[in-house]
Amino acid sequence: MQQLQSYVSGKWQAGQGKAAQLKNPVTEEVLAETSTQGIDFQAALAHARTKGIPALQELNFAERGKLLMAASKAIHAQRDELLSLATLNGGNTRGDAKFDVDGATSTLAYYAKVGERMGEAKFLVDGEGVQLSRSPRYWGEHIYVPRAGVAVHVNAFNFPAWGLAEKAACAWLAGMPVVTKPATATSLVSYRVVQILIEAQVLPEGALSLICGSAGDLLSHLDPFDALAFTGSSVTAGKLRSGEGVTLRGARINVEADSLNAAVLGRDVQPGSDTFDLFVQEVIRDMTQKAGQKCTAIRRVLVPVEILDAAREALVEELKAQRTGNPTVRGVRVGPLATESQLEDVREGVERLKAATKAIHGDGSRGELTEIDHDKGYFMSPVLFEAADAGVEAVHAHEVFGPCATILPYSGDPSEAAKIVGLGQGGLVASVYSDDAQVAGEVALGMAPFNGRINIGSAKIASESLGPGAVLPQLVHGGPGRAGGGEELGGLRGLGFYMQRTALQGYKPLLEKLTSQGHRF
Ligand code: NAP
Repeated sequence: MQQLQSYVSGKWQAGQGKAAQLKNPVTEEVLAETSTQGIDFQAALAHARTKGIPALQELNFAERGKLLMAASKAIHAQRDELLSLATLNGGNTRGDAKFDVDGATSTLAYYAKVGERMGEAKFLVDGEGVQLSRSPRYWGEHIYVPRAGVAVHVNAFNFPAWGLAEKAACAWLAGMPVVTKPATATSLVSYRVVQILIEAQVLPEGALSLICGSAGDLLSHLDPFDALAFTGSSVTAGKLRSGEGVTLRGARINVEADSLNAAVLGRDVQPGSDTFDLFVQEVIRDMTQKAGQKCTAIRRVLVPVEILDAAREALVEELKAQRTGNPTVRGVRVGPLATESQLEDVREGVERLKAATKAIHGDGSRGELTEIDHDKGYFMSPVLFEAADAGVEAVHAHEVFGPCATILPYSGDPSEAAKIVGLGQGGLVASVYSDDAQVAGEVALGMAPFNGRINIGSAKIASESLGPGAVLPQLVHGGPGRAGGGEELGGLRGLGFYMQRTALQGYKPLLEKLTSQGHRF
């Protein structure tokens, strides 16, 4: 069996003591073990700071962009192996695996291009300067410089490649070294990605470290200029927020947590229209892709009472065509959940929803499985619920991180839809499907205060729509409230977390000379 190691202080190191197991979620076979016990995390962070910071910060944005492009290419060169590992350790179908692995390489490549465009600058200049007194000589500017610390990334189990890359791309381009900690249970892909990058020697020493296994006392060593970016459950987020590195020493923290994403069907949409079909397709994709284990997946489906029958019928009809089972088999759309504990969590969530609503497709069981001839594996076939009352608490209070969603009937009034969406206490993304600018606008603006991103689906963009589930590097990812209150990506905005915004005030010509060396945006 493979024994995984961590890459810290410039070398691969094995932990001691009891190891955590990584399994194949289809067969429950143990694939690998890993432990971090005994690894000196304080030394690991010190090494990243002393070696990684100067190595990255002596480079300009274009040079850092080149590193990102080299990293993207090195990962892409091992694409087939990584796709297989995502299936083996994450239960991904080939499509699910591509979503993760290609998402990683394309995000790195996107930020490589951003770096290229910023050229020889090493810092950013924020907007226009401002006159500070009656005299035009006394001037003010704002600049962003790289933080003088290490970026610690703690990631969720569902995107072991993309989660690592999307955070690292912004940190490296900003000029911060990265210590990345994937979720242990599905860390095989992250482990291999780091191995590839270290072997290819595309990054300077200290720019990348890997903690493969428990975080141990890592976070207790965070210093004032470090940045902690976390993706995972709100319960873990609570613990990380209360750590001394954050509360006493002022390390920055960004949280991407739970989200009960909503999709609202506009009252103008006719069954059978392109927009209606897009709505059905995107709800089904989110319920099935990665077995519903996507932070951005649609969980609450708001449908006007007038077209409830048609929407229910179309969704159920599509769900009947989705095959659950062996993710290596062509045509299977839903693989297993990633771990036994995820399956248990999802089963509990399904029971809560069953008690409060009505299951109209599926029941939370394995269902009929394609090419699975044993009773092992963490399978659950998709479940669609329908609530009689859109306000029912269970639907808005708990994220069920699996292949399930709930239809919520509403009157068709945009302001009512927005109010119902707000019951989720803050989300990553919400969608409205409508061809009526008035309806789409009212719903979108009404939902915006509760969500980090709004996806507007309509006939005009139906053939191009990537849906709400895909997180794009050009747009911000993150949301208020339950979703953690964080923000990642969004082009240059994604660098802000890893940089210090500092105000400058002084003699205008002097400031002009200084800021001319930066990249003004
Ligand atoms: P989790 O249990 O909170 O774990 C997330 C990460 O935190 C893992 O790497 C885990 O490591 C680590 N961790 C747990 N306890 C820790 C501690 N005390 N100190 C330091 N690190 C600790 O979440 P998950 O089960 O992986 O992910 C599922 C949840 O993540 C869902 O609720 C989902 O909504 C959310 N999610 C959000 C987004 C988003 O972008 N907003 C994306 C994906 C998932 P170990 O694995 O070693 O325990």
